[in-house]
Amino acid sequence: MKDYVIGLDLGGTNIRAAAVTREGEILHRVKIPTEVPKGRKRVIANILKVIETIRQELKGFKLSAIGMGIPGIIFFDKGIVAQSPNFPDWIDFNLGERMSKDLDVPFYIDNDANLAAVGEGWIGAGKDFNSFCMFTLGTGVGGGIVLNKNIWRGEYGMAGELGHITIYPDGHLCNCGNRGCLEQYASATGIVRMAKEKSQIPRPTIVSAPKSQITANTIYQSAKKGDTYSLEIFQKMGRILGIGIADIVNILNIELFIIGGGVADAWDYFAPSTIEEIGKRTYRVTGERVKVIKAKLGDDAGIFGAAYVAINELS
Ligand SMILES: [Zn+2]
Repeated sequence: MKDYVIGLDLGGTNIRAAAVTREGEILHRVKIPTEVPKGRKRVIANILKVIETIRQELKGFKLSAIGMGIPGIIFFDKGIVAQSPNFPDWIDFNLGERMSKDLDVPFYIDNDANLAAVGEGWIGAGKDFNSFCMFTLGTGVGGGIVLNKNIWRGEYGMAGELGHITIYPDGHLCNCGNRGCLEQYASATGIVRMAKEKSQIPRPTIVSAPKSQITANTIYQSAKKGDTYSLEIFQKMGRILGIGIADIVNILNIELFIIGGGVADAWDYFAPSTIEEIGKRTYRVTGERVKVIKAKLGDDAGIFGAAYVAINELS
């Protein structure tokens, strides 16, 4: 009987999942609401429902393993959610153990940004490279470091927190406790904050909406129309991303940087500043060879990464 694995992406709004073959082919997809406000039991019941729905759909196939990505601090080896921004009451929660009560197949969890990098490395923008870093620019900034085809999780799973590279020593306070983290400037949240701060300066701009209505998308739409005020915000954001990348280049001599997440849609407005900044802050011999490219798998990167981790643990 042909087998498959399930890759799950546990988001704050939706649980997205797919049945994936060892070759990376998607057999079936399911998406249902996570229902976070209804509590932990309901979220777990929903995860199990997704798995059961896929099993029912693929009765002629054998489910071999399951992988799932979750935002936050995840201890892969132990299956523990140490802390997750989407699930505030999941503190040191042994989700792996909890799920194994109801499942007869191995169940693995990892940080969602790590898994996005794994997915891009498997069948996406990083597939022809041994080593690369991926930045996921969304509400926050996630990171993943792939070294010699393996995700680098660090000593206990905390590696790849690229969003918390310090850019400004006395900058904006970050949720992690540090000040001036890259995430505070290169995420959708950071872009909105910079726009609101900047709008103290009276000057003509297309971003004329009341401050409370400014979103990353309105700034993006204004940039598209050539609004210099919005373009400057993306240039600043791009520069900050470039500083972070240059630091990594200087430490690890990595050539490929993959940029994903919703903010990557504004590529044309921030990427030139990113590339310029990398050139300024690295040795010529390394900086010249750096490639900064867009992610290819979109929202599916995490699902493919979760599936790949499940497959990898089987072999
Ligand atoms: Zn931080």
